[in-house]
Amino acid sequence: MQPFDPETDEPPIRAAALAPGLYIVATPIGNLGDLSPRAAATLAGVGLIAAEDSRVTAKLLHHIGARVPMLAYHDHSDDRVRQTLIARALAGPVALVSDAGTPLISDPGFKLVREARAAGVNIVTIPGPCAAIAALTLAGLPTDRFLFAGFLPAKAGARATAIAELATVRATLVLYESGPRLAASLTALAAGLGDRAAAISREISKRFEESVTGSLSELAARYAEAPPRGEIVITIAPPAPPAAADAETIDTALIAALATGSVKTAVATVTAALGLPRAMVYARALQLRDGDGGE
Ligand code: SAM
Repeated sequence: MQPFDPETDEPPIRAAALAPGLYIVATPIGNLGDLSPRAAATLAGVGLIAAEDSRVTAKLLHHIGARVPMLAYHDHSDDRVRQTLIARALAGPVALVSDAGTPLISDPGFKLVREARAAGVNIVTIPGPCAAIAALTLAGLPTDRFLFAGFLPAKAGARATAIAELATVRATLVLYESGPRLAASLTALAAGLGDRAAAISREISKRFEESVTGSLSELAARYAEAPPRGEIVITIAPPAPPAAADAETIDTALIAALATGSVKTAVATVTAALGLPRAMVYARALQLRDGDGGE
């Protein structure tokens, strides 16, 4: 897509007529063609843009031929900046953007939205690109349950603790990472989670986009040899389901539990310990109590 040239081109975007409010606008994560028409019309139609880095957002505004005042905003910005933005959003339309992707997702905005909501500001989201969601569509891993965990801590101890917390989560894991830290993070993930299947999605929507799949240890070895450039998302398969307990294990556990408690208590204990359906354990407990081995 050619950038907008104010000397020769008609402004390609018609500014939206917007009600007062805070407009959360997702912007491209690489390919400018991914800016939605609604996002562009919103950016052109607001009276002020709260931007993570005004130099980055200035390029996007130039691309759509819009000129809009900007105010730098981070979650650690002075409280007065937030109050200014909230006052402006009560009186007219204000946009929040980050450098790339969806604001608030590993990016500034959470505190602003929380306080703006409390102040009665109309909050509107203009959905669009998000690297975590884009990576999930590329990885070939289950998407019915996923946990987005942002960036792992940089220091080894804190990183190991964070990984240990993720180890029992029964969902696909999604992490952001940088090239220089990728191999060390993959090694730590293999140690803390087991050698699960994973995907490394790099430079999504850009010229050198690629997604490489393999086990965590295979990927760690690959990227230790050649640290990758660019922006990266790691997706990791959920843990394998626990192996189903065999009949002998169930009987041994039930006999021990029945020796010291009621059928109800024994069933509850064994159901919880072995992760089995209660009805099945209950039926077997009655057989064992009544001396009917079920053979
Ligand atoms: N808010 C953004 C979003 O919606 O994806 C994420 C912002 S976070 C500060 C930046 C991280 O997102 C990068 O370090 C990288 O892990 C990931 N990321 C952003 N753009 C990407 C791209 N084009 N390809 C792969 N990962 C990307």
